[in-house]
Order: sequence, then C-alpha cells, then structure tokens
Amino acid sequence: MSLPMMKNYINGDWVDSNTATYGDVWNPAKGEKIAQVPYGTKEDVDAAVKAAKKAYWEWRTTPPLSRARYLFRLKDAFEENFEEIAEVLTTEQGKAIDESRGEVRRMIENVEHATGVTTLMCGYTLEDIAKDIDCYGHRQPMGVFAAIVPYNFPAMVAWWFLPYALVSGNTYIVKPSEQVPMTQTKIFEIMEEIGLPEGVVNMVHGAHDVVNGLLDHPDIEGISFVGASPTAKYIYQQCCATGKRVQALGGAKNIVAIMPDADIEQGMPSLTTSFFGCAGQRCLSGSVLVPVGDVADELVEKFVAAAKDIKVGNGLDEQTFMGPVISAAHKQRVLDYIEKGIQEGAKLVLDGRDFKVEGYPKGFFVGPTIFDNVTPDMTIASEEIFGPVVSIVRAKNLDEVISLVNTRNYANASCIYTSSGATAREFKYRVKPSMVGINIGIAAPMSFFPFGGAGNSMFGDTKGHGQEIFNFFTDTKVVIERWF
Ligand code: NAD
Repeated sequence: MSLPMMKNYINGDWVDSNTATYGDVWNPAKGEKIAQVPYGTKEDVDAAVKAAKKAYWEWRTTPPLSRARYLFRLKDAFEENFEEIAEVLTTEQGKAIDESRGEVRRMIENVEHATGVTTLMCGYTLEDIAKDIDCYGHRQPMGVFAAIVPYNFPAMVAWWFLPYALVSGNTYIVKPSEQVPMTQTKIFEIMEEIGLPEGVVNMVHGAHDVVNGLLDHPDIEGISFVGASPTAKYIYQQCCATGKRVQALGGAKNIVAIMPDADIEQGMPSLTTSFFGCAGQRCLSGSVLVPVGDVADELVEKFVAAAKDIKVGNGLDEQTFMGPVISAAHKQRVLDYIEKGIQEGAKLVLDGRDFKVEGYPKGFFVGPTIFDNVTPDMTIASEEIFGPVVSIVRAKNLDEVISLVNTRNYANASCIYTSSGATAREFKYRVKPSMVGINIGIAAPMSFFPFGGAGNSMFGDTKGHGQEIFNFFTDTKVVIERWF
C-alpha cells in the first residue's frame, strides 16, 4: 500500500510540490513509515511568496477587528477538532497523548491572545510636542513573513507567530519540520474551513532548499525560526546579510537546582515531568539536576526511584507517561551521549540504553537514564542531548549553582526548588537564562508573555508571542502633524 504524500498549501489550494525528492515520515513508537513528505524546491517557495504577496494589500486593508474575527472562528474550529489534532501529533511525534493535548491547548491560547489585536496593536500619541504640533505613531504591517519550525512541537511552535502575523495584517508562509509534517497539514485543513482569503496563509513542505529559498527571497520581510542553535545562528546570519527581520530561537541546556530546604515530595512530580516529559525533547526540559549540600543523597535516591516508575510506551496509550524519541538517528545520537558520559567517568545510576517496550520492538525508545557525579566540564553537562538523560552535578551552595548556570553555552531556562523567598530571589536575579522556574520544573511562559532565551539560545532581540511579537510583525510609522 502506498503511503500518503503531503501536499503544499498555496493560494488556497492543496498542490503537489514540483520536487523529485521525498522523505519518509515515521511513527516513532512503532518504528514504521506512515507518510511521505516532499523536499520542496525554490520554485515551491516562489509560488507561495507570490500568492502571499498578491493577497497582502487586500488583507492589510481589512480592519483589524475583521481580521480578528477569523481567529475567533479558528478557535472554535480547533476546539471541535481538538482530539484529532492531538492524535495526529502523537502518532508522528511520539509524545504522550496528554502532552499533545497540552501542546494543542497552548496553540489555541495563542489564537485567543491574538484576538486582542485592537488593544495590543494600538499606537502612540502625544499632543503638543511643540506649539500646535501633535505626534502619533501607527503600527503598520509589512508584507510577507515566514516561520521555520522544529520537530518537537509540531502544532504549537508555528502558532507562537502565525496568529499575530495574520491579525496584524501580514500574510504568511509556514515551513513545518520535515520529520513531522502531518500535524501542521491537519491544522491547515481545519483552517481552510474558516474561509480566509486565498494566499493569506500558505505552507511549503521541505528541508534545506525550502529554508534557503525563504532566506534568499527578496519579497520576504522577516523570518521566525525555532530549532537547534547552529541552525538558528545560520538563519540569523543569512537574514542579517539580506536585511530581513529575524528572530531565531535555538537549543538549551537547562539546569534545575534543588536547595536543602526544598520540598522534595511536592516537587517530585514536576521534576520527573521536567526531565522525562516529551522524552527530554523540549527546549525547556531539565537537563542538569543540581542538588545542593546535604539534600543530594536523599534526592538522588528518590529521583531514581521515581524515574524507574515512569511508564514508557506508545503515546497513544492513555497510561503512557513517556514516548519514544523522534527517529532511529536521534536515538543513536542520544546513545552516543550516554557512551560519552561513561567514558568521561560519570556514574550511570539508571541505564535506559536497552529499554524494551512490550509490543513495540521496532520503536525508537530510550529509557530514563541518570548519571550521578557529573562534573561541569563533562560533555553531558555542557551539550544539548535532547533525550531522557539526566546529568546530576552536586553543588555545595547557591553560588556554585549560579556559576554553573551562567557558564553553560546556552541560556534558555533555569529552575530552582526552595522554600526560601530570599534564595529564590537571588537565583532569579543573578542567572542569565531568560525563563526562570521557582518550584516549577518547566518555565514555560503563556501566550501573553514573551518566549525566548539569551546567549546561544536565541539570536535576535524580539521574542515569540506576548506583547512584543507585534513589534516584530509591524513597522512603527510616526507622524508629526501641524495644521495652519
Ligand atoms: P533543527 O535545527 O534541526 O531544524 C529546525 C528547522 O530548520 C527544520 O524545519 C529544518 O528543516 C530546518 N533546518 C535544519 N537544519 C538546517 C540547515 N542546515 N539549513 C537549513 N534549514 C535547516 O531542529 P530540530 O532538530 O527540528 O529541533 C530540535 C531543536 O530545536 C533543539 O535544539 C531544541 O532545543 C530546539 N527548540 C528550541 C525552542 C526554543 O524556544 N528555543 C523550542 C523548540 C525547540
């Protein structure tokens, strides 16, 4: 039986790519191919940009409240198809179904937040900046924007940008990850129901050629990128070279510190979710666990016990807490890091390498894996593994924790568990990462706050969603006015 082939969505039509190159889409729990995705070409990109450019002026002159009404309809359509989106997501990405539901919920929250456009996009005004002269500024849309997104959140990440781009009057192109193209395809099928004008939203499937086609295209005003740091840096540099706006969010190595006064019992469920949820494939996942002082032995014992209890399996099974990693190649990459940890002298206290899941012999599973006695200079304490592998670095005091956080190559998120307000304040004040959790293991801002890191975790200066996303998608035109 032939596998379904993903199509591009251009100018309100589902169209075949003109490529001769295709990739496979996998069900990572079963280790089976489930679809094919075209690796699109620059011609596909040209067609999408042409459609988006043609649609722009009419869309830009549609009143903001009318544009927002499409989003109200879209919210309803997403709610009606909520379970279906979550199921497609788990099938191709592998995460537990409840995590997919959480992701779809977060996606919808961005649609909801963007409907506040009439308030969020209001400009500035000041009378009498000089005698009889007034000054005011409009936020004006700019044209065609695009998003290039990663595999770990196939639904949500594109929607940190898309609803805001649309509601502010721009037209849009999404390039989903070639590893998980089905979820965004389902989302676009649902979006088709709300009757947006042709060309306002478009989707082109593919890999590097599509990305480079977007980066090189003179009619694209700006790019929102989310993915690994080397790719983010490349995207940033290319956009700067061609004068495009760019926000490029990259990888992470998040530290979670446990102070001696922390409530371990209450914190444990959120700790296991932080390190093993999404099989560690979250840019906000805990990666380095840092017990401070004499809490270490008790914490390690309880954390290992909790990790052993985790139910690993097919994400579509409601009992599953942790699914597989995305691919055979990524599984090998995670196993290589585990090997590296052993070679560098860390103590492997829970080994997930030969993990078997009954009924899924070909799935890309790695079991929960924990290293103790990791030192800050080891590879597994420094590089992003993006799998269910925890590196425990024991620290003597808060200064050591903060130094560890601020000397990582990344600065996305960091968390602390403590019952002291003073300790929490000192931590949040001094650490470099932009997202901080206090007695929270995943420091995920909601749609009305900005999302993004610092250092090598983000290139560019305007973050995702929140209020400031409107700055990214608009130019401020200031008028200085006098009447005689
Ligand atoms: P990736 O960088 O491999 O791919 C992301 C996108 O870039 C994909 O659409 C891919 O097709 C494209 N791409 C990849 N390499 C390219 C190249 N050399 N030239 C042109 N295009 C290229 O990332 P991924 O593996 O899909 O996602 C995982 C990474 O994303 C992790 O590092 C994770 O931390 C990061 N991430 C970050 C955030 C954040 O908010 N900072 C959120 C989610 C994921």
